[in-house]
Amino acid sequence: MEREFSDLSLSRKECGKCGAVWINGQHTWATGNKGSEEDLAGLVCNKLADDQCINPCRGVETGDTWAKRFGDVAAGFESIKARMEKQREDFREEYGEDA
Ligand SMILES: [Zn+2]
Repeated sequence: MEREFSDLSLSRKECGKCGAVWINGQHTWATGNKGSEEDLAGLVCNKLADDQCINPCRGVETGDTWAKRFGDVAAGFESIKARMEKQREDFREEYGEDA
């Protein structure tokens, strides 16, 4: 029986610029989760804009960005605020006054 050793080889590349890690060619977040080169580019690499960065997607604008993430947070906050205001209104209707 022939043994397949190729699957066992583990390549680990770390970007000296942003610290991102690629394991067997797959970008992996520090948490161990599978990463996204595009998101990494939008969040980190595009800002560093340095040729030392090994992210193949550096310069790609389609990934996640902080602006987009803050946008999501703001949208989430607005919906919570709207819900709270609605609850307060319901409360007012039910009890006739603002407690
Ligand atoms: Zn990098």
